[in-house]
Amino acid sequence: MASTALLTNSWLDEFPARIAELDRLHLRRRRRIVVPQDGACLEVDGQCMLAFCSNDYLGLANHPALVQAACDGAHAFGVGSAASPLVSGHTAANAALERDLARFTGQARALYFYAGYATNTGIVPALVGKGDALFSDALNHACLIDGARLSGAQIHRYAHADLAALEQALGNSPARRKLVISDAVFSMDGDVADIPALLALCERYDALLLLDDAHGFGVMGPQGRGSLAHFGLSGENASPRVLYMATLGKAAGVAGAFVAGSDALIEWLLQKTRSYIFATAAPALLATALQTSLQLIEQDEWRREHLQRLIARLRQGLTQGLQGSSWQLGESPTAIQPVVIGPNDAALAVMEGLRARGLWVPAIRPPTVAVGTARLRIALSAAHTEADIDRLVLALTDLARTGAA
Ligand SMILES: *Cc1c(COP(=O)(O)O)cnc(C)c1O
Repeated sequence: MASTALLTNSWLDEFPARIAELDRLHLRRRRRIVVPQDGACLEVDGQCMLAFCSNDYLGLANHPALVQAACDGAHAFGVGSAASPLVSGHTAANAALERDLARFTGQARALYFYAGYATNTGIVPALVGKGDALFSDALNHACLIDGARLSGAQIHRYAHADLAALEQALGNSPARRKLVISDAVFSMDGDVADIPALLALCERYDALLLLDDAHGFGVMGPQGRGSLAHFGLSGENASPRVLYMATLGKAAGVAGAFVAGSDALIEWLLQKTRSYIFATAAPALLATALQTSLQLIEQDEWRREHLQRLIARLRQGLTQGLQGSSWQLGESPTAIQPVVIGPNDAALAVMEGLRARGLWVPAIRPPTVAVGTARLRIALSAAHTEADIDRLVLALTDLARTGAA
């Protein structure tokens, strides 16, 4: 210990200065202590805020039926799961959830994971490796990108939604195993991938398509069955060329994720996914809560209808309110509504202006988004009211006029 203190110029002494540099670039992130309240309100550092930062799109995260199901699960199965499902087995609740997820999404079989990040970083390297080829949309979520890097396959990154570039890259690739990876609903822009066109390309070039539907599951498609169902590509029309992945901590209101597809693909992933094999199983109390969540997602059409009305109201209000300003409302049909502001400090200033009005909208900065496209990421939820939307539109209109940017 003493000898460490004698070293000069150790890299270990550089962290305070490196953190100060993050401060200087307006890139330092902070966590606040929050207490969920009724509706879309959060008590943040003791103050009540109307929140537009949550991916709880259907307003299910605090639903009493889910809380009860989690308690029932804890009473029946305890709170821990002790080891990997392949070592100590998984509970009947986890197994039933996998059957429910497969049925709900119209796929042959599903595998339930404790987190979406771990799902993608695990399944991509299980599917492709050295000598294989990966094709990745430039705006894909970080965990797809990290999974791609871990795999060791050659990565072809195509410009966002540029299917001509994707086709060219697929055509030029000599690799026998080709995997196309894409968000179904892009997490920072809210736009929806052209899944039928992606699938057609995968068919033409004998590629497998992995879709991350973290932001579409529960929201898109009939009864919230997801983005594949939205395009009529699930159930009888499910393609053995598609792996469907979605997370369960967003619209489903709980935690975890799953991947679904053909029996052979899911069996392979069960055998080969290191983040599944070498990790402790998700606790059964989450699986029991998720089974209840799936029922509510399926039944409560009003949540999706209400959300659609809110999206339309916000877009109409902001299209008018931001006229003549340099801020840009993105072209998004989903619950994710980006307002691109540009510089990091300007986006932070608007976020602070909203915060002073009791509104919490996160500013998203690089590296999450491209340099020069710092933005507000407005996330709408069925827990919002129309009056909540009007409050946000009014505040943003006001800040745009008074030149907060
Ligand atoms: C949130 C998210 C993930 C990660 O899921 P977690 O369950 O939060 O780990 C993966 N992909 C996308 C597109 C996401 O938005």
